[in-house]
Amino acid sequence: MNEHANQNFDTAELAKFTDIAHEWWDTTSRSFGALHKINPLRLDWINSTVPLLGKRILDVGCGGGILAESMANLACKDMANGTVLGIDLGRESLQVAQLHALEASAPNITYREVSAETLTIESPASFDVVTCMEMLEHVPDAAAIVQACAALVKPNGWVFFSTINRNFQSFLNAIVGAEYILALIPRGTHEYAKFIQPAELMRWARNCRLAPQAMRGFGYSPITQRYTLNSDTRVNYMIAMQKL
Ligand code: SAH
Repeated sequence: MNEHANQNFDTAELAKFTDIAHEWWDTTSRSFGALHKINPLRLDWINSTVPLLGKRILDVGCGGGILAESMANLACKDMANGTVLGIDLGRESLQVAQLHALEASAPNITYREVSAETLTIESPASFDVVTCMEMLEHVPDAAAIVQACAALVKPNGWVFFSTINRNFQSFLNAIVGAEYILALIPRGTHEYAKFIQPAELMRWARNCRLAPQAMRGFGYSPITQRYTLNSDTRVNYMIAMQKL
């Protein structure tokens, strides 16, 4: 596995997800329950920034297809002919994504084991919308992924990233709180040093002609066990960017 031309992946990081690939669609699982909870929020935000109906969409680091499949449903509504391509380097995750799309009769969705960098050779400036969620903090060279996303999106198209900020608050919330105290996700899911500050992400983006347009943070209430979108980007955040 992972005989990919470029080496911008970490086998141990991929294994964190492929080892538990059977849990991708278990909405109550500790591993992926949080992604299922935030999915409607991020989907709404993306779709309100750029309506997905009829769009050609790429989801980089799609995992089991939680976001990809929900975007495909919006892209194809009312018989529109939008498409979603989901790519990842975790083979078992892709197999689960494919099977789920089949079972759910999700329309116009394709999954491929290919890196974002390799896809730029085959499909430069090809997608209206590129999403890359909760993945940058798992790769050795996140800036190279940002650059690949910028190369894959069409001029004026949109790119969405989500990741985790790097500061004392995010260490407390995303690692101590989420992994140890509240046990919302498995221990060892995240490494503090790989977290990315919005300023870093925006600098990499501007270097490849992606203009940041909007940003949202996620709030979590341990009492209601619900997530909300807000303007507090100290921990988990999303950025929408437009290709110049
Ligand atoms: N984007 C999905 C899954 C996030 S989990 C969602 O938000 O629902 C992180 C995913 O990134 C995993 O599926 C993992 O296999 C993938 N990943 C990690 N490194 C990668 C790389 N270099 N290229 C592509 N996918 C990668």
